[in-house]
Amino acid sequence: MRCAGGRLGVMLASHFSIIRQSMTATVLQHSPLNPALLAALRQRLGDRLSTSAAVCEQHGKDESYHTPHAPDAVAFAHTTDEVSAIVSLCAEHKTPVIAFGTGTSLEGHVAALKGGVCIDLSQMNRVLRVGAEDLDATVEAGVTRKQLNEYLRDTGLFFPIDPGADASLGGMAATRASGTNAVRYGTMRENVLSLTVVLADGRVIRTASRARKSAAGYDLTRLFVGSEGTLGIITEVTVRLYGIPEAISAAVCAFPTIGAAVDSVILTIQSGVPVARIELLDEAQIDAINKYSKLDHRIAPTLFFEFHGTAAGVAEQVETVKAIAAEQGGDDFRWATTPESRSKLWQARHDAYYAALALRPGSKGWPTDVCVPISRLAECIAETKRDLAQSSIPSALAGHVGDGNFHLIFMIDPQSPKEIAEASRLNDRMVARALQMEGTCTGEHGIGYGKIDFLVDEHGEAVSVMRSIKRALDPDDIMNPGKIVRL
Ligand SMILES: Cc1cc2nc3c(=O)[nH]c(=O)nc-3n(C[C@H](O)[C@H](O)[C@H](O)COP(=O)(O)OP(=O)(O)OC[C@H]3O[C@@H](n4cnc5c(N)ncnc54)[C@H](O)[C@@H]3O)c2cc1C
Repeated sequence: MRCAGGRLGVMLASHFSIIRQSMTATVLQHSPLNPALLAALRQRLGDRLSTSAAVCEQHGKDESYHTPHAPDAVAFAHTTDEVSAIVSLCAEHKTPVIAFGTGTSLEGHVAALKGGVCIDLSQMNRVLRVGAEDLDATVEAGVTRKQLNEYLRDTGLFFPIDPGADASLGGMAATRASGTNAVRYGTMRENVLSLTVVLADGRVIRTASRARKSAAGYDLTRLFVGSEGTLGIITEVTVRLYGIPEAISAAVCAFPTIGAAVDSVILTIQSGVPVARIELLDEAQIDAINKYSKLDHRIAPTLFFEFHGTAAGVAEQVETVKAIAAEQGGDDFRWATTPESRSKLWQARHDAYYAALALRPGSKGWPTDVCVPISRLAECIAETKRDLAQSSIPSALAGHVGDGNFHLIFMIDPQSPKEIAEASRLNDRMVARALQMEGTCTGEHGIGYGKIDFLVDEHGEAVSVMRSIKRALDPDDIMNPGKIVRL
């Protein structure tokens, strides 16, 4: 096993101490809210400004083990102008502003490390327009992915990006989210056409027109996609839509080993089969979803597939993939033929996180993800599984493997420093391994503060450019301070 020494060993040693720091000691200096600011916000928002402890606590935590940090107040915004007014007031007082969509992020993203005002965008939930001819839609930032698809139900169109949670489009843009469909339709990076953004001084900009392509100036859309609320607050998102395919077919196939399943994925992608979804679940994850979603899949490394296209196109894709899988010992394809059975299958996949947690009642989830070039995927997963086999912490592995992206969830006892240290060690090793394979420390969950130090290992000097951008757009560091880059 190559991860015991050399560059990986050195990287692991440096990560080990840093991670502990980012988990526990990241609270930045915190001043109480200025009463004049509070009064001005209250005057503007009335009841839609809350300082209740329960509301603040709920807005300072995400869905992971990360220590929550409550903001001092939560502002429920209704319009772009209102967001601009709130940010302008906070800017006058140099008070932190943290955007909040649905709070489903996983790396401490919404924790108010310096206190301040959380702007909750969930009530900005109108679909503003659907351009059926142009295959696009503009929504307010609080619209969730399921809400948008519900709205599109009778149009023959859909929006494909599907993180497991029903996240807001603003939050998804801010975290550059993806999900099971990304292998075919791309991530938020490819699917956001334009954004309306409130900057740190309250100015409002639109990053691009609705044109499908443009060579006009710096690509600000892509700068704000993935900026995790550290550069501005997104209030409107224009996204690409797609026609619902004429034929959709989904199947589950168990494999004798995880290596065989991963090799099938690699061959499928390298053969150019345009699969819509190709998801890997290891034995622990299959056991978890069987119990949680009352299913009866064979307990074995398993791939979930979905194929989109014309009837003939789908049939051709299926034949190719079946032949590839059979060569790897995967010949037991179980088909979900009706829309109901497909939706049950994918709901179970989307519930995988909660299913894994349910295997160990009382545990907290330490979710982590990495992404590597597809040619290195089998090796990365095999080495990671060897690490896990030597650890006593329960874990489950699942992944959007068609992109070379996979996730681990450690089900930890949050009161046990020993377990936290062990999960941290395994996470360090997995990330270092992915970086050594020219991959990334996160394919989709983002940096927040949980992965802030890995960013330096991944990008080196480029992080100084990120810091310059942050300082130029947010000189007083009020936008979600303590996330993505340390200043
Ligand atoms: C069960 C489960 C499964 C998941 N599966 C996936 C997956 O498959 N793929 C994936 O990519 N992620 C996944 N996630 C993570 C999460 O759903 C995504 O990161 C999602 O994009 C977060 O959206 P949100 O609305 O909850 O944002 P929040 O958690 O509210 O915020 C996330 C970050 O974005 C910022 N932000 C939020 N709204 C705005 C805005 N309008 N303007 C500027 N900044 C903003 C916040 O300040 C914060 O830094 C999963 C999470 C869970 C709990």
